[in-house]
Amino acid sequence: MRTLLQRLQRPWPSLCACCGDWQEAPFCLACVRDFAQPRPRCRRCAVALTPGPGLATGVCEACTREPPPLTRCVAALDYAFPWSGAIARVKFQGHVGLAGFLGQLWRAAPGSEPLWEEADCRLVIPSGRARLRERGFHAVAVLARAFGGAALQHDVLRCHDRAHQVGATRAERQAQVAQAFWVDNAAPLQGRTVLVLDDVYTTGATLHAAARCLRDAGAREVWGLVLARTPD
Ligand SMILES: [Zn+2]
Ligand SMILES: [Zn+2]
Repeated sequence: MRTLLQRLQRPWPSLCACCGDWQEAPFCLACVRDFAQPRPRCRRCAVALTPGPGLATGVCEACTREPPPLTRCVAALDYAFPWSGAIARVKFQGHVGLAGFLGQLWRAAPGSEPLWEEADCRLVIPSGRARLRERGFHAVAVLARAFGGAALQHDVLRCHDRAHQVGATRAERQAQVAQAFWVDNAAPLQGRTVLVLDDVYTTGATLHAAARCLRDAGAREVWGLVLARTPD
């Protein structure tokens, strides 16, 4: 009986979501080694830096030309195979076990923990009510909890339900995102460094809109901490 219990308490063997090898975590060690290699990234937008002037200064060309509202940004993974698929399984299929695994990878990435520790106030990018009802859970909050983020401020930033306008132009979509956020509780922001967690950074429009909103409400600086960043 005891052996049976011990056997049941062991993690269930499963297939690596990347290479299909049998092992006990959603991804095997070899795939994590191959695909989650830390790489030099821009300190303001976390884009991977290629050899060139950006690599020496730590800031990419785009951020040098036009500094974004985030003063620092750290990403753990590239938003590419196999992580883009894994994040989609958390978001659209509610795969909580995978969220736990990704949260650990997120925390283990160089730069994640120092940013978390140095910030005065930490929050998760909010989701609109309609989307929350539709999915039944907030994927970023689940990932942030897996990161180990218990000390998160959930009452500061709020998000309007965005109308999904089919055929909206890029400029119209950007305007919608810019007006998506509002601050409900500005007290924890005053003169503080605020860290915003999000799952994916693609154009940065969402995080930048949140950062502007938080700065307007009194934050001294806003930093971003994302699980995955599009490679360029
Ligand atoms: Zn594998
Ligand atoms: Zn940059």
